Amino acid sequence: MPEFDLHSHSTASDGTLAPRELVAQAAAAGISRLALSDHDTTQGLPEAAAAAAEHGLELIPAVEVSTQWRGHSVHVVGVHIDPDHEGLAAALRALRDTRTQRAERIAEALERGGFPNALEATRKLAGDGMITRTHFAQHIVQSGRAKTVKAVFERFLTPGKPGYVATCWPELADAVDWINRSGGQAILAHPQRYKLSATARRELAAHFKEAGGTGIEVVAGTGHAPDIKTNAELARRFGLLASAGSDFHSNEHCWLKLGRLPALPPDLIPIWARW
Ligand code: AMP
Ligand code: MN
Ligand code: MN
Ligand code: MN
Repeated sequence: MPEFDLHSHSTASDGTLAPRELVAQAAAAGISRLALSDHDTTQGLPEAAAAAAEHGLELIPAVEVSTQWRGHSVHVVGVHIDPDHEGLAAALRALRDTRTQRAERIAEALERGGFPNALEATRKLAGDGMITRTHFAQHIVQSGRAKTVKAVFERFLTPGKPGYVATCWPELADAVDWINRSGGQAILAHPQRYKLSATARRELAAHFKEAGGTGIEVVAGTGHAPDIKTNAELARRFGLLASAGSDFHSNEHCWLKLGRLPALPPDLIPIWARW
């Protein structure tokens, strides 16, 4: 029985392991099929694929696209994408520009809040990879002004806080379209994490399905039983295939360890059933 993990991050975005280290660790944890789904970039995929060949693991080319729906930030994981597909590649290039400009605005906001030179330090932490709020949070922890990344998010980087800036992400339906056109399948990421009412969450899932979405993360990030139950109900109600992913970022800060995912409810069709 292959073990799947369809959501993970490397240093190409805000993970702490290089793609080859992530793959080695996943293989050691008994995962046989791993999707590397960095935020808005496919830059880590070639290195991950080379490492996967060495470890006898199947690397599923993926990406986690930042989108918006009704003004909420919503993430869509595309699996089995073709990273060279021009439509998808152009959209991801535009997202890199969006992130670069956003980082400049976050740094200005933080500067007003008493954090000088945040952009330079944060850029260094992000390296060649996509710059994210996680990197700003890491910088602030290193500066000694907060103890944990989580605390920085709560105090500075979330809506209403001094370092938060609104961002114009692409529409959810457009991201689904790019993923589908590149030959991939779109999965609604961690549905439990959006601050939505139960009704709005169902409307989100309905809209996602109508837009051409294929799957939904049922086991996502936390692995908490109540989340699995709610996500499973959305999968059944809207005819979405079930996915499972750790959303692994690092060994220090992770909700789920690589290779330790709870099983999907047995009545659901896993997205990999037709692979
Ligand atoms: P960004 O895509 O730049 O807005 O950054 C979002 C990333 O920040 C997510 O993918 C998580 O890795 C991380 N993140 C978001 N909220 C929190 C939080 N409350 N605590 C720790 N990390 C978070
Ligand atoms: Mn992240
Ligand atoms: Mn996400
Ligand atoms: Mn993620």
